[in-house]
Parts: sequence; structure tokens; C-alpha cells
Amino acid sequence: MILRARIVLPISAPPIEDGAVFITGNRIRAVAPFRDLRRLYNEKIHNLGEVILMPGLVNAHCHLDYSDMAGELPPPKTFTDWIGSITAAKTGWSYSDYARSWLHGAHQLLKTGTTTVADIEAMPDLLPEVWDATPLRIFSFFEMTGILSRRPPKEILREAIEKIDSLKHPRHRAMLSPHAPYSTLPELLKLTATTARKHNWRVSTHIAESEQEFEMFKNASGSMHDWLGRNGRNNSDCGHGSPVAHFARNKLLGENVLAIHVNYLARGDATLLAKNKTHVVHCPRSHDYFKHKKFERERLANAGVNICLGTDSLATTRKIGKTKPELDMFAEMRSLAEHDKAVSPEEILRLATVNGARALGLAGKIGELTKGAFADVIALPFNGKIAAAPAAAIQHSGRITASLIGGQWAIPPGY
Ligand SMILES: [Zn+2]
Repeated sequence: MILRARIVLPISAPPIEDGAVFITGNRIRAVAPFRDLRRLYNEKIHNLGEVILMPGLVNAHCHLDYSDMAGELPPPKTFTDWIGSITAAKTGWSYSDYARSWLHGAHQLLKTGTTTVADIEAMPDLLPEVWDATPLRIFSFFEMTGILSRRPPKEILREAIEKIDSLKHPRHRAMLSPHAPYSTLPELLKLTATTARKHNWRVSTHIAESEQEFEMFKNASGSMHDWLGRNGRNNSDCGHGSPVAHFARNKLLGENVLAIHVNYLARGDATLLAKNKTHVVHCPRSHDYFKHKKFERERLANAGVNICLGTDSLATTRKIGKTKPELDMFAEMRSLAEHDKAVSPEEILRLATVNGARALGLAGKIGELTKGAFADVIALPFNGKIAAAPAAAIQHSGRITASLIGGQWAIPPGY
């Protein structure tokens, strides 16, 4: 089929006025002005009209299973206070609460233009059931901690690998997520690094999210350090450098690693991340919820780090007035534009598409409209001029007009 639109934003190539995308099966075969494609191919034409056609968004960090906690946890004073609140909120939840919540989150992402999501799974037993119920492409990262349970890292990892091996799906993949430096032991980080390299898996992990975590590792002091110490954590891995340096020491930086947040950097950390080709995922609304200091986008970008965008969970997204927040990559793009005046709309679009694709090892396959990529395409209402299209795209709010994933309509036009 041929999709025709007022504007096509391929992301990896300049915008096209009265553009079209030619698709066969699950792949894009050509992206060009409509008049050229119509001459070359005698195919069924879907004229989507006054829209921007662009690649489906790549959400590089999410916790779908917390989606129904939207608006339940007011912004805390400190990060450790928040850990207390979410732990309390989770105790009342059953297996079916998590499953329902996961599916609500997936639906919110779908209707707001995400087509691929890197999700952290606190409840991996849900996956066979929920995976089948969504058209999204899911990278499911199994959360591993072990500090409070005091289980040996080897056993935690073995259990995660067994679960990953038991899951096979044509569209979705399962991989590993050691939760964060403070909630894991160095041995788990080292074992994860070796295992992931052996299996060619991505690893997703929270790092340097809070000031307390930074202080814990850099100085072996502060409220998080003391609180975890009181709860039996062996804190002998603290006091040897920043959280990023801690990961470097445990060999968990690399081209296959998605480092989530990275809000607090020591001197040399940006270079260390860049040298190891580690990807950084920024979550603007979660960042705003915790009132972290300004995200060091320019410092990381100047060092050469690939930066992408994620929604994080709705347990760390502020309510606006009485409205409960929803998972929405456009809301993340708008939030980034609001908090970082130096970043262009074109760059924000790259963060939400091609950069996320690169982080997930799918460069050229998702996040751009190009020959050979999966036909993951979304449409947004737009009747302006071509030069205004990127700025209009990042300011879009509400539902999208249509979504195609792997050549199949996930949201058909006119739905
Ligand atoms: Zn997270």
C-alpha cells in the first residue's frame, strides 16, 4: 500500500511535502514525494490528508505495570521517601491489578504514538498473557534487585535467565535489568554484564537518579547510604567514586547498556559513558516530579553520548490539576522543550525516535521512515507549512490519527 500525507517526516531525511510511504508486508520499500511513488507503483492508496506522517515513537524507558498508580503518589521530599511510598502502594496490589495496569499503560502509549517500548518488568510472570494483548513492540527488561531479599546474585540471575528462555514471541523480546546501583550488589552487575554480552542482550538499568544515590557511592554517606546500611546492605562498594564509575568498575557500561536517568555526574562521567558507547535515557516528566537539578543534556551530548527519551512510570509523573497523567511520549517531548530552551524540535524528535532505536540495537529498523525499516508509522493532524512541521509535531497533544506497526493497522485511520 501507499500512505499519502500532507507532510512526511522521515526523521533521518528532510521533510517531504505531499509525501508518501510505500509499504509491502511489514517493511517500508520507499519514501518519496507522492507523485513519484504513484508513477512507480500501482498500489492501493490510503490518502491520510492533512496530517504529518512520521515514524512511531520509541519509548526507551517505562514501567507499564505501575500505570494505574497514576496520580496516587504525590511528589516526595526526598528520593528515599518515594521508595517508601511505592513500596507501601505495591503491597496492596494483586497479580491481576498489575496485569490490568500493564495493559492500561500499553493502551495509553499506543494511542499517543509509541510503537516500541523498553519496559521494566517487576512482575515478569504476566508477560505471556499481556504480550499477546498488545500490538506494540515490547522490550521487556526483567527487574533484579536482591538487597532486601538477601538472595545470592547467582540465583537471582539464574531465575531471570530461565524465565527469559521460556518466553518466545515474534515481536517481543525479554532481557535483563539490574535495578540500580543502590539496590544491587556488585556481583549481580558483573554477572549481568557477562551474561548479556554472551547472549547479545541489551541491559537497562537506573543510574545516578538521585542526589542521595550520588552521595552514597561518591562519599559513602547520606540518607540513602545510612538507610540501606541499617537494612543490612553491605555498603563496602560505596566511597570509591560516582555511580557511573561504580558501573564502569563492574563492567556494566557498554554499547548494549541503556543507562536510565543519569542526573548526577562527577567529572569525567560523561566521557566515561561516551567512551563505553553507553546510551542515556532521559525521562523529562519524572525528572520534573523529583525536582532534580537540570538534566545535563548538553554536557552528555558534547561528550558524544547517545541520548534518548522515556516516559518512566506514572508513579513518578505529576498530576496536572485534577487530571491523572497518562503515558505519552508527546507529553515528554513537550516537557523537554519547556525545560531546555537550547534544544531544537528536530533534535527532540531524534531523541524520541532514531536515538532510541540505536539504544535498542535497531538502528535503521525502527524510529525512521526509510527503505528496509519496519513499517511502524504514525499520523498526527496538521495543516500548516512544511517548515513548521517539526515544531508542530513535538507540540502535538491528545490522540494520534493513525498507527501502523509492522505493516498492520494498530489504530486504523478514521478510528
Ligand atoms: Zn524507571
